Amino acid sequence: MTTPSLFISHGGPNIVLDDTEARDYLRGLEGLVGRPSAIVVMSAHFETRGPVVVGDPAPGMIYDFGGFPDELYRMVYPAPGSPELAARIKTMLDAAGIPTVVAPERGYDHGTWTPMMLAFPEADIPIVQLSIDPGRDAAYHHALGRALAPLREENVLLVGSGHITHNLRAVFNAMRRGLAPDPEMADKVDAFTGWFADAFAKGDRDAILHWKERAPFVTENHPTDEHLMPLFFAYGAGGEGAEAVRAHDSKQMGFFAFDSWLFR
Ligand code: ZN
Repeated sequence: MTTPSLFISHGGPNIVLDDTEARDYLRGLEGLVGRPSAIVVMSAHFETRGPVVVGDPAPGMIYDFGGFPDELYRMVYPAPGSPELAARIKTMLDAAGIPTVVAPERGYDHGTWTPMMLAFPEADIPIVQLSIDPGRDAAYHHALGRALAPLREENVLLVGSGHITHNLRAVFNAMRRGLAPDPEMADKVDAFTGWFADAFAKGDRDAILHWKERAPFVTENHPTDEHLMPLFFAYGAGGEGAEAVRAHDSKQMGFFAFDSWLFR
């Protein structure tokens, strides 16, 4: 059986501590996708110009966040890397006309370690990280996924880790100061996530890859693009004609959406 590809909304690093539906969903991930032989994670928190794949055999930790509870800065997720898989990914992307660099050393950013710690707490499945390029568009990240889709035949789980909506100013206002969110924000989030649900249901790749021109409330949901790019990677990794399944769709504070999409 071919392993599905997956997009997840990773939340803040506190997702590993707080009792939320999004945490419970990630904890149950193995029941949804099975137990992979290796995992490739494209995280929105690993930004480079041109693709970089991590060949670190034993990635350390990157605590790339501020103002969260102390215990998060002591957490360690010791899953091994896989220099062999990283080298293969470079070969596959180079062959697809996308020249790729292997980084010999880089730790896990929170876009990788927090969801993987919840999903695979034994930390015994090798993980290879792949960067996004914030200067490139949806079609580019889709092409990266398409080039790596054959790895799914070898039970490699291809994961895009970002957020379906990512208006952090609204999130931080609500979290830190107890401000009520913009009452219209929830409607704008629903319109945006619903637009993707419709487009995926129709299999309308052209619309999906032109989301910036066609989806409603783009800047309200994504003041910058980087957290949505892993969605297009996962979509591409699903291969031609993949069925898209909205596997999870909880919200926090009424407007911070945690949609997860499975492609199979
Ligand atoms: Zn993030």
